[in-house]
Amino acid sequence: MENRRGDRTVGPSGKSALPNCPVASVPHPPAADPAQDPRAAFLDRDGTIIEDLGYLGDPERIQFILGAIEAMQSLQAAGYRLVLVTNQAGVARGLITEGDVRRVNDRLRELLAEAGVVLDAIYYCPHHAEIGPAEYRLACDCRKPGPGMVERARQDLGVNPARSVIIGDHGSDAGVARHFPGMLAIMVLTGHGSCQYEKVEKGELPMPDHVAADLGSAVAWLLARGDR
Ligand SMILES: [Zn+2]
Repeated sequence: MENRRGDRTVGPSGKSALPNCPVASVPHPPAADPAQDPRAAFLDRDGTIIEDLGYLGDPERIQFILGAIEAMQSLQAAGYRLVLVTNQAGVARGLITEGDVRRVNDRLRELLAEAGVVLDAIYYCPHHAEIGPAEYRLACDCRKPGPGMVERARQDLGVNPARSVIIGDHGSDAGVARHFPGMLAIMVLTGHGSCQYEKVEKGELPMPDHVAADLGSAVAWLLARGDR
């Protein structure tokens, strides 16, 4: 079994009223050193790092998107803390359980570790504002585009959102960056990205700072900027 010592169920930043929101899984709570002003890459999971198979509950079905592991290696080598931020409303919808989400996340962490990639934290939001049993039917602030998961990473890891980047295939990922001046948002066209970008062009979703074919291309663009 995976070492679960670090798993924690926590309240959102400053609001203890909402249970399970978000749930943090931090394997090795790192010593936060504000003097280092660390930056983070907030990475969406489904459709960005792994193929979006729709409410994935089976760890054996994890399929990395081509180039994603190498991109994460590059981010890590460039000094980015790697933080997974994933909406998992399939839990509220009753399609998967939190146990499923954790098993997939744990396996993802293992597979990445085998490639030398360390996830500094994993946050997921199991909620939905209108659907599901009372414990999951919450208008929480952790569901992207809410700021809750990034706020939580700021507390847990001491990362500086203004030096950070969020990369994902949904407009809700770019929406997170709007809460944090200076944070870059990159939309990838894998997963639901192509459909989402059509909505961006129509002005229905927030405009990211950059649009990239995939995570590898997104990271190449980011690291070429050299201004983080
Ligand atoms: Zn939530």
